[in-house]
This record gives sequence, C-alpha cells and structure tokens, in this order.
Amino acid sequence: MRGAVQGVGFRPFVFRLATELELTGWVNNSARGVTIELEGPENRLERFLLRVGPEKPPRSFIQSLEYSYLDPSHYKSFEIHESDQTGDKTALILPDIATCPDCLNDMRDSKNRRYLYPFTNCTNCGPRYSIISALPYDRPNTTMSGFVMCEECRDEYENPRNRRFHAQPNACPKCGPHIELLDAKGKVEQSSHEALLAAAEGIRNGLIVAVKGIGGFHLMVDARNDKAVRKLRQRKGREEKPFALMYPSLETARRECHVTDLEARLLLSPESPIVLLKRHAPADTAVGSISSSIAPGNPHLGIMLPYSPLHHILMDELGFPIVATSGNISDEPICTDEREALTRLGGIAELFLVHNRPIARPIDDSVVRVMMGREMVIRRARGYAPLPVPLKKEMPQIFAVGAHLKNTIAISIGKEAFVSQHIGDLETAQAYEAFENAGADFRKLYDFAPKMLASDLHPGYLSSQFAEKQGLPVTHVQHHYAHILSCMAENEITPPVLGVSWDGTGLGTDGTIWGGEFLEISEYGFRRAGYFRTFPLPGGDKAIREPRRTALGLLFEMYGGKMPEQSAIPSIAAFTSQEMAILKQMLEKSINSHYTSSAGRLFDAVASIIGIRQETKYEGQAAMELEYALDGFDTEASYPFRIDSNSETKIIDWQPMIEEVIKDRRSDALGGLIAAKFHNTMVEIIVEMARSSGKKRVVLSGGCFQNRYLTERAVTRLNAEGFLPCWHQRIPPNDGGIALGQIVAAAMAELKEGNE
Ligand code: ZN
Ligand code: ZN
Ligand code: FE
Repeated sequence: MRGAVQGVGFRPFVFRLATELELTGWVNNSARGVTIELEGPENRLERFLLRVGPEKPPRSFIQSLEYSYLDPSHYKSFEIHESDQTGDKTALILPDIATCPDCLNDMRDSKNRRYLYPFTNCTNCGPRYSIISALPYDRPNTTMSGFVMCEECRDEYENPRNRRFHAQPNACPKCGPHIELLDAKGKVEQSSHEALLAAAEGIRNGLIVAVKGIGGFHLMVDARNDKAVRKLRQRKGREEKPFALMYPSLETARRECHVTDLEARLLLSPESPIVLLKRHAPADTAVGSISSSIAPGNPHLGIMLPYSPLHHILMDELGFPIVATSGNISDEPICTDEREALTRLGGIAELFLVHNRPIARPIDDSVVRVMMGREMVIRRARGYAPLPVPLKKEMPQIFAVGAHLKNTIAISIGKEAFVSQHIGDLETAQAYEAFENAGADFRKLYDFAPKMLASDLHPGYLSSQFAEKQGLPVTHVQHHYAHILSCMAENEITPPVLGVSWDGTGLGTDGTIWGGEFLEISEYGFRRAGYFRTFPLPGGDKAIREPRRTALGLLFEMYGGKMPEQSAIPSIAAFTSQEMAILKQMLEKSINSHYTSSAGRLFDAVASIIGIRQETKYEGQAAMELEYALDGFDTEASYPFRIDSNSETKIIDWQPMIEEVIKDRRSDALGGLIAAKFHNTMVEIIVEMARSSGKKRVVLSGGCFQNRYLTERAVTRLNAEGFLPCWHQRIPPNDGGIALGQIVAAAMAELKEGNE
C-alpha cells in the first residue's frame, strides 16, 4: 500500500482490523509504503480488502493498493514489525491516481476557488507517472514546470499541514493549466468551462469528441446513440471489437451490469481501471440503455468511472454513459499531443477538448477482470505502471524488450523489476516508435544502463531485432517459458513447477510454432513435458483471422484428403467449393501451412466446427465467443482424449475429442453445451498432465487463461486433486507479461554462468 499511510496511525489500524477478522501475519513500514501479509480463510481476506479503504484512519490516504495471493506461511499471530529503512524512495515513481473525495468536494463547491476546475489535485491524488520527465519527483522535473504557482497555491504547497503540501501538480484556475475546445481544423472555439459545456453539448448531439485526458486522448460519443457509435466504429476502422464505456457513477453502472463488492472496489479504486462486467441483459436495447453496437454479441461490458477532474465535471454535466475509447486509429498507440491529435484523429473527431498540461508519455486505461474472486490485470497501464514487481534475488541490470503483440518492456534494478505500461502491437511504424520511446524513456527516467538484453527467441519480431542492434549480449528466451516465469515471479514461487503455457503462437526451440505447452521448470531452465498433437494452419497468418481455416487444418490432420462432405460441418460449409479445392491443395502439398501445437488455435477451431464463428474481426474473438456460449450450461461432462506417453515428451491427441464434438454437432446438440464440454476436456487434460508430471505446483499462463471459465475450472479441479495451482493477478497472462519473464530467464542464465 502506498500513499499517506505513514505517521497517521495506519499500522495500529491494520493491527486492529486484522485481529478483529482473526487474520494472522504482519505489517511494516518502509520508505516505499506499507507492506502487509495476512493469512486466513479467503472470505475474511476479501473482507479485509474491502474494509481497509473505507475504515482507514481519517488523515490517511491510500494512493495505490496492489495485492496478490501467496502460499500460507502458518503465522501464529498478527504483529507490527519494525520499520524497514532500506529501499530508495527517490527511485519510486507512483502511477497516476484517481481524483480523491476531498478534491471532488473542492470542485463541486461553488464557493471554493477550484470550483469546476478540471486540474484540481492534491498530495493524495492526481497525475504522477504521466507528468514526470525526470527524477527526483519535483515540480521542475514535471510537465507542470512551465506553470508558476500563484501566491495561494504556493502557500498550500509550502504548508506541511495543508493537503497540498508538496503536491507537485498543484494548480488553480489562476495559475494552472486550462482547457480549450478546438474544431477539426484546430481553431479555438471556446475556452475554460465554456469549452467543456460546448464539448458536452457536442456529445449530446451525436458528435465524436476527442478529449485529452491523463495519459492520452479518448474518443467520446454518447453510448446510447447507435448512429454515433456506428460512425465512430466506421471512422476508427474498428468493426466489432468492444468499446470501453465511462459511466457517471457506480449506481448508473449497476443498472446495466452485475457488480460484485470486489468489482465495485476496483471501479472506485485509486487505480480506477476498466473493469469487465457481466451485463444484466445482453441483447437489451430498451430505452435508456446503450447502443447494441458497443460490444456486439458480448455479454460483458468494459466499464470505468470518471477518474480525473475533467472526466468528473464532464460526466456530472452529461449524466449518461459515453464510449471512452483510446484516441487512435485501429490498434495504433494512443495520441498524447494536440497537434498530433489534430493530424491523426482529424478524420475521426469533430471536436477536440484539449488542455495545455503536456503528457510526458502515452498511458492507456488499464483493463481488469475478476477471476476466482481475485483481480486479474489484462492490460496493465494507468494506475498500475510503473510499480515494480519484487524479485527473489538481486538481479543484474537487464533490459527486456518483450514480445511482438501487446508489447511491454521491463528493466531490472536490484531486487525489483519495473514493467512498462502496455505499449501495443508492434505492427505499425507508430507502434514501433512508441516501443523505442518507451525504452529510451525507462533508461533516462531510472538512469539505467543495461548490462545485457533479453528478447524473444523469434528473430522476426521487431523487438528482437531491436535487441540485436544494441551492441550488448542478448539472451533469447523461449516465449512459453517466459510466460511461466512471469507468472512464477509475480506469485513469488520457485521451481520445480509444471507450467501450462497456452496461447496463440510463439516460436519453439525446435523451430516450430508452439502454443499448447506443458513445461517442467527447474532452477536451470525448462523441459518440454508435453504438447498438443500438431496440425497445419493453411495460409499462415490468414488462419489466425479465419478460424474456419484452422478448423480445416485440424480436419485435414484427422482425415487427410477424405474430409467430411460440405454441409456436415459449418467450417467446411463456410467455403465455396473452389476455395476448398485450393485449400486442400495447399494442405496436401503443405504450401504455406505450418504445423502448430497451439491451444489458442484449438479454441478457434472448435468455435468454427460448431458454427460459432468462421472469420474474426479482432484478435481472440472466436475463443471469446466460445467462452460466452457456454454461459448457463452447467455440466461436468467432458470428451475423451489420448495422451501418447511413448517418449519423455508426451503428445496430447485431441482427435477423440474433436470426433465427439463433430458427433454432438451432427446430433444437433446445443453449441453452448459442446463449448462447455470442450472447456471441461481442456481442463481434464491439464489435470492428467499434472498427475503424470508429479509436480505439486501447477502454473497457468498464456493468453488462453484470460478465459475465465477455463482458469476458474482449472484452478478448482487442480485444487480438488491436491495440486497447488497459481495464475496471474497483477501481470497479464497474455504477451504483456513476456518482458517480466524474459528478465527472470536472462538473470537465471547469467547467475548460472556466474556459478560455473
Ligand atoms: Zn486530492
Ligand atoms: Zn494557483
Ligand atoms: Fe504468448
């Protein structure tokens, strides 16, 4: 926990709350904040988590609360430990913190000098990471350096008893940043509060408004206005990928979605992420509800609440939900600067609500999903980055460049790894530039000179190529191994473990494409303990966007040239006979049809075979829809599978399962039921592999584990069978976690060499 938690009676408060809930463990103070370890039944741990915020001592404030579940240590009592004076406070950069209740009161009080002022902040809240240009964190080292504090602000800043004592971005309407409304040509139409009112009016009238926020621009439209939402989709080049929403309040969000206590805590937390919530009625387009184009066919919505003063004032004015999607075209990095926004977003937005506080670096909104009653960060950016992940050992200075998609970078300093905010898919020149900037930024910010680099094994990734050009030794880390190491690092566990590393794609050590891997991790590296029987992907990357091609590859592997007739299987029916002839030839002559063991592709193939989706409009769509389809089908049933255990490395044969899937489909079983049985089978495969490996600890990582049903069922079944499963919490299971895994792998290789 970080924030105003020192010298305000925080430790005694934690002691009382823990004792009342009959939890054991300890609390201590360090230069970096307060660390608490609690031990007890899960429901009481959750109660602690939900009560610590609302019941904290009056003068304390929690700026960030990061937590994860660890193995029991069998504490006998709860203790207050001595303060830990180690750790350098200056090197710690806080994430941006959502507006605090006191500042909200100031802004809503017509007699306060900050009434309706959109840059109100204090020591407890406001921008941090998004405005820091160098350390130490002092005003001249922030993007506020150009604003000279007025007398009143200076008095607050210098008064130790004031809430704004040393609040670096302290400002008021007299001396601080201001907003302006521009038209698409950049002409100033309004300024100050009038600008905000005009922007709100634009949104009400169905216009697309680009709004400069904390870490970049949002594109905003009225979420109830279907025409406006479709206009935004078309202009942004985003066909079906769900849009994130901003709701005026928790109460209004509850009208649309089911919100648990933990989800409510997350929505209102200092981190204030986008939370994936279950809708009450998926297809409901009744009056007052939102456009059906927001998240087509999706029973979930990504919702956040206002987190900056500007958002609060805007949402108070509007009173209805809006789309608040990253200001970019398709998947490019988020825009941060007015001029850039006018050029890049000029063809999308009709109005631009801008301000003159520069943004030091692009930071997207974070995305979280609750799994097994715990938070899982799917996209780690604003509110979380760049808080470090503690490491078990002192590490050499390593710079990890991450993967290709959902790229993040990471550096290690001493016993900590700093993982960057989400950078994006390195598919465009803009994204690659953002990647290079993020690396340069980290090196400058932390005064960091790497001794070595770590990259993915794939030589074709732009990130890997960048690493080779740095003139330093590079450790090449296998993708799926990195996934497992990242999960182990954040869960603070050590080998031996069995890693289950399931995703779409990654280069294996044998030069083939992996993706459905069981890896036994030791202190010295990993051994491939098993993988899915491989199958071809006709058309390579095209197959990733067309699950029907993946399904065809799978069927070809099963039946060779004698595939079932056209109408029997939706995947085949989705092609014309000419297309089929060409694809069959491709497969028979194995032209551009690489074999893969990918578990992610198996999900795609099944989605296609049972007719859920043949072509996708965004990454992961088919697998997501397969997961959504099983909702409400409560079954323990699963399909048969075969594990070929002739060699050291086991091959899991999915053919018996796929045969049954096809049989079920032919007898008109409901898609949702087949989807549930398929998921259950994948889980039983994990359980069976865990049994045969004999490792107690099973680590679940890779993009497939963003699937809530898969993760929750795997954890439940493994627990029931006496294993100790662990999964991701603060670091994404997808490729956003790869950089952290690369750091650990490179350090292990380095330490091993040092010992020899
Ligand atoms: Zn505040
Ligand atoms: Zn002032
Ligand atoms: Fe991956």
